[in-house]
Amino acid sequence: MTAKILLVDDDPVTIQLLRRILAGLGEIRIATNGVDALEMARSVIPDVILLDGEMPGMSGLEVMAELKADPVLTGIPTIFVTSHREEAFEVAGFAVGAADFIGKPVSPPLVVARVKAQLHFKAMADQLRQSAVTDALTGLANRRRFDEVLAVECRRSLRSGHPLALLMVDIDHFKLFNDRYGHPAGDSCLRSVAELLAHSCPRATDVVARVGGEEFGIILPDTPSEGAAQVARRILHVLRARAISNEDSEPLGIVTVSVGVGVACDPHGEQDGARHRFSRDPGLSIAPEGLVAAADQALYRAKRGGRNRAFFTCPLDEDTGRWVHDPIIDPTIDPLRRFRASGVGVTGSQ
Ligand code: GH3
Ligand code: MG
Ligand code: MG
Ligand code: MG
Repeated sequence: MTAKILLVDDDPVTIQLLRRILAGLGEIRIATNGVDALEMARSVIPDVILLDGEMPGMSGLEVMAELKADPVLTGIPTIFVTSHREEAFEVAGFAVGAADFIGKPVSPPLVVARVKAQLHFKAMADQLRQSAVTDALTGLANRRRFDEVLAVECRRSLRSGHPLALLMVDIDHFKLFNDRYGHPAGDSCLRSVAELLAHSCPRATDVVARVGGEEFGIILPDTPSEGAAQVARRILHVLRARAISNEDSEPLGIVTVSVGVGVACDPHGEQDGARHRFSRDPGLSIAPEGLVAAADQALYRAKRGGRNRAFFTCPLDEDTGRWVHDPIIDPTIDPLRRFRASGVGVTGSQ
């Protein structure tokens, strides 16, 4: 991938010079004052910034302090380009987070060498950050990423009032699969299921994560219960069509999953005055734990109900104060009738 380099200097001659020197190292953006530099950094997210130490208005040190205070920008290596080569300035620069210094007038080979070094460190840091949130076996998001995204999306949903769906997906009888076919085949099966889940959730904002051994969590922002039910149905159908053998898994003899669905701020709930029941209940609120608990309870029901099916946890029933569990897909009953009855808009038959 092409590196993005942001040059910040109030002097056009320096800008042109640096631009020529760095032309081969990446895509170059330019800002001529601190305010523009911060705005551009936020929109471009560069891989390295070369920052003039002395500018009218915001000084280089002030720009650096703002960059470091922003959680998104703080990881971008920033090199001071300055005629101040005295010790005190460099110490102050490192104290606010500078990655390096280049003295003016600039030496072209030194500029290239220092920028290359920072780009190299940045690429390594990016790779580390990525692997810290990726599940090594499947390439999906890992548990840590799942927790982060769910927390962010719960806050967003609470603020915007947009629905947020969570699917917990657990492979059925996976212990028996491992026992019969061996652990390497189990791993390969996990990869296949992961790929299929990712394909079933094509929206850029959807996050599919491996949250445990054979358990996956799917976060669907801006998705009401109808949409979540559709995704659950798709997953069950695609897995059935794929027909990976698991001879000990009754009754189909293939790998199946059970799915539990929880939805916060569901507009369907609003129709019967239940929109905010998730957030009213102190134990099971729109907080991530509440949504996970809702989906987990539905998953438990799906397992108890015979596996290879999806259950939906409705918000609390006002009369009984209990959770209501509605099957989205239950092969033992006529799905169309049930969905109409529960208001969950799933069409077609199992
Ligand atoms: P259920 O239908 O009730 O979910 O039954 P189950 O057998 O799937 O559930 P259980 O929790 O008893 O067993 C999960 C199994 O998943 C245990 C372990 O053998 C397997 N497993 C967990 N992580 C991995 C993994 O990384 N690789 C492989 N191959 N197997 C795994
Ligand atoms: Mg200047
Ligand atoms: Mg299982
Ligand atoms: Mg499990």
